[in-house]
Amino acid sequence: MTTVVPPRVCAAFEAGYTGLPALCFSRVLPTTVSDPQLIAVNRALGDELQWDLATHTDATLAALFAGNVIPMGANPMALAYAGHQFGHFVPQLGDGRAILMGVSLDRSGIHRDVQWKGTGPTPYSRNGDGRAALGPVLREYLVSEAMHALHIPTTRALAAVTTGESVRRDGLLPGAILTRVASSHVRVGSFQYLAAQRDPEALRALADYVIDRHYPATRTAPQPYLALLQAVSDRQAELVARWMHVGFIHGVMNTDNMAVSGETLDFGPCAFMDSYDPDTVFSSIDRQGRYAYANQPHAAQWNLTRLAECLLSLIDAVPERAVEHATVVIEQFSERFAEYWLQGMRLKLGLMTALEGDLEFAQQFLTTLHRNHADYTVSFRQLAACALSTNNDASLRAGFTNPTECDHLLVTWRSRLRLETQSPDERARVMRSVNPAYIPRNHQIEAVIRAAVDRRDFEPFHTLSKVLAELVWNGRSMPRSRYRPRRLSA
Ligand code: AMP
Ligand code: MG
Repeated sequence: MTTVVPPRVCAAFEAGYTGLPALCFSRVLPTTVSDPQLIAVNRALGDELQWDLATHTDATLAALFAGNVIPMGANPMALAYAGHQFGHFVPQLGDGRAILMGVSLDRSGIHRDVQWKGTGPTPYSRNGDGRAALGPVLREYLVSEAMHALHIPTTRALAAVTTGESVRRDGLLPGAILTRVASSHVRVGSFQYLAAQRDPEALRALADYVIDRHYPATRTAPQPYLALLQAVSDRQAELVARWMHVGFIHGVMNTDNMAVSGETLDFGPCAFMDSYDPDTVFSSIDRQGRYAYANQPHAAQWNLTRLAECLLSLIDAVPERAVEHATVVIEQFSERFAEYWLQGMRLKLGLMTALEGDLEFAQQFLTTLHRNHADYTVSFRQLAACALSTNNDASLRAGFTNPTECDHLLVTWRSRLRLETQSPDERARVMRSVNPAYIPRNHQIEAVIRAAVDRRDFEPFHTLSKVLAELVWNGRSMPRSRYRPRRLSA
């Protein structure tokens, strides 16, 4: 047997979750695979993490990202969590096919979890094989990196490898492993797990951990755990609004798939909407449309209510008072979501100021898209061209089943634009910086997966990956925060 020298990829892993009570995780090693082959390594992300990937050969990287060798200093573990799956509580889920190798400090001083997904059984695998199939690994790689390019908080993809082994799903499929990076993997379900275990001290330790890692400002609030709930709720409101702005449907917003950091987590049967329809559902198991496009804010609020229930005993020793305070926070979610949503919609529509009637116009715009089976992404992108000149109206009209409805919209839109002073160029520039030119469409992802699974052809994967990383805005984009609409003074 040859001795494998563990690669050193970073100066040191941080303590991470090791300081939490023992029931929060289980130490476990990956199960080795027979023939790891590298599909992709995200070198830019590796660099952000201050990981040294450049000095290793492809063979070493393949062995590393397959879990065949463990990097020096790593602390491999699976995290415990529970969760409501489609409304039904499961008291123990946990990382059944993922192993957290360690927590790294990135270049900007932020702690990032680095987790291998598809590395074999863990104590939380239940009846699962602990493995991942190639298709979902490629999907998560592409969509999570696209979300990042779209400036939406998300877990990232550091690497993908094939294992040389098959996994049994509906038939045999090639196995693969994804390495993902998250600002943490604490979920609403992590709190639910400790609440179900009736361990208030562990619950407090986890809440303190989340405060230290994600929301340090809440530590000094008069009621830190209420402030924590408020902060998590606010980030979710913004996150879901941003999903909606780009037509993203998460697909499985179970409480175990909602990260308290406010990052998009777990890209299962997720997709970007093509023609605008608020009832769009992508997951075949979501028969009742629980996680349909337009239900996402309600699903998030429902999940936050479950988080609030877990935090009640920390919020106030008097249960009635705790419920009263938490209810106020949960109810505020709708308002916060509506604010974030309208703020982003104004920019998509090229409205640089906030005026009465904007909400109604945004809704009218969307219902007209819906009635006319118009493509969501393409329509907004073409509207940016319409901001430059009426000569560009034709391409937007062409996407409507009844182009006269498009004409009426444009008349209303232009009369609203006349209340502002922006130049057409400036308006179009802002609109193009928030309305993507490219999104990962489901049929393109399916084609990538077919090529990889049927023909071992990864060229389409690399091509789509490059387009999404470099061209989503097809031009320069700007941080959204620079363009908060101002209310016009009377
Ligand atoms: P997901 O649907 O990926 O969010 O997973 C829900 C739960 O099922 C989590 O606890 C996963 O770890 C677990 N799980 C999903 N797939 C597998 C698998 N192939 N083997 C073991 N556990 C799995
Ligand atoms: Mg999950």
